Amino acid sequence: MNLIGHFVDGKRTGGTSTRRGDVFDPATGRRTAQVELACAADVAAAVEVAERAARTWRDASLAKRTAVLFAVRELVHARRDELAALITAEHGKVLADAAGEVQRGLEVIEYACGIPSALRGGFSENVSTEVDSYSLRQPLGVVAVVSPFNFPVMVPLWFVPVAVAAGNTVVLKPSEKDPSAALLLAELFVEAGLPDGVFNVINGDAEAVDALLDHPVVRAVSFVGSTPVARHVYRRGTAAGKRVQALGGAKNHMVVLPDADLDLAADAAVNAGFGSAGERCMAISALVAVEPVADELVARIARRMAGLRTGDGRRGCDMGPLVTAAHAARVRSYVEAGVAAGAVPVVDGRDVTVDGDPDGFWLGPTLFDRVTPQMSIYTDEIFGPVLSVLRVDSYDEAVALVNANPYGNGTAIFTNDGGAARRYQHEVEVGMIGVNVPVPVPMGYYSFGGWKSSLFGDLHAHGADGVAFFTRGKVVTSRWLDPRHGGVNLGFPTQT
Ligand code: NAD
Repeated sequence: MNLIGHFVDGKRTGGTSTRRGDVFDPATGRRTAQVELACAADVAAAVEVAERAARTWRDASLAKRTAVLFAVRELVHARRDELAALITAEHGKVLADAAGEVQRGLEVIEYACGIPSALRGGFSENVSTEVDSYSLRQPLGVVAVVSPFNFPVMVPLWFVPVAVAAGNTVVLKPSEKDPSAALLLAELFVEAGLPDGVFNVINGDAEAVDALLDHPVVRAVSFVGSTPVARHVYRRGTAAGKRVQALGGAKNHMVVLPDADLDLAADAAVNAGFGSAGERCMAISALVAVEPVADELVARIARRMAGLRTGDGRRGCDMGPLVTAAHAARVRSYVEAGVAAGAVPVVDGRDVTVDGDPDGFWLGPTLFDRVTPQMSIYTDEIFGPVLSVLRVDSYDEAVALVNANPYGNGTAIFTNDGGAARRYQHEVEVGMIGVNVPVPVPMGYYSFGGWKSSLFGDLHAHGADGVAFFTRGKVVTSRWLDPRHGGVNLGFPTQT
């Protein structure tokens, strides 16, 4: 059995822990590998390496750092299919979707290639007579990144390129469900010229995460995962004096107004509801139909769903399996709960015929109509291919519903009324908004992050927020003496 270890100090390595996790191919249900689950000593060894590397990497010139990042960009681009194949083999998403994930990660690498502009400070001459003032941003030191199973390449790339471009060193803890792609990523960074020890990967579970949160040398933690764990990471990390950004779960609403293009809306609902089997933090899981459009919209969505092929992600299917047997069973139990609560199962994914191994972790796309806000299929983040339609009578009712939800990651409005769209983006309490765009993931040069229970912390991922997160500001006030200086003055410094 293939044993997946860690990547520390520029090479693949094993740890001292004897605990193991199982890694599956979700499309066949077969165990394909075991992964080492690091103990606190394994984490400490990686942090020590990263701390040593930080002493020199912080002083690497901007020219050197950008040269490495440009090379990383080329390598990730060239090896995109290999990364995508690793993602599909352990996560299950279809190959085209996996390649798309790598592409979105590349955007952040490209953003980080421009780090010299992003780090530029300000300069004010003569703030006082012959006194100048200027600002700098400096790296934090060792930072930790903890990522979820659903984007094993893109989420690490939301953080790692910006962190290293800003002069930090990194210990990444990927999801134990699909750990392989992160190891290849780390190899590519080293192949691109990143010095050993700047980017390390420690595989493991909660024990490794808590060891990172408690380690005094780790200065900051970027976390992405479910809300309960995000809350825990934020509390424990900040209690230990660290800077923490913890991105949590989501329940994303798509509001369809009566004047919307219903074909566009139906296409968008299917793409955003069932892409990656609904295992996306920006998936649409609640469709809010403002009457009188619901009947027609539901019919158009159901027609499109009839053409979807669920199956092995390597066979050109539209949708793959769920990540684990346990997760598939959990999502299935929500479908059962929806039926029991009285929601109308317009398309029931439990009956799906798959193009894949019968032992895969399957559940087909499921569409519920007449869902009410009290039902668990609405209140909970299901993280599967289950789309719930809620019917409301007005725009105001739609906004109130979205704003009453504890999550605030992403939302979309479909309308041809510019005024209504503008009002929505102004009023809605959500971090990322799409107007006739169903999955409004910001480009790498903007910042990604939600509101409310979808993000704990102040700064979002990548873009300007990412640079702010991975750096500390300094302001220098300097005077170079000229022959006219002199005199003692104990008064508070003021401008003269
Ligand atoms: P998860 O919370 O189970 O795990 C995330 C990471 O935390 C993993 O690396 C895991 O090993 C670790 N972890 C798990 N339990 C822990 C614990 N008790 N203490 C410390 N660490 C722990 O999430 P997941 O199932 O891997 O990913 C799916 C979740 O991530 C969904 O809720 C999804 O919405 C969310 N997500 C959010 C975003 C976003 O940008 N807001 C992006 C992607 C995924």
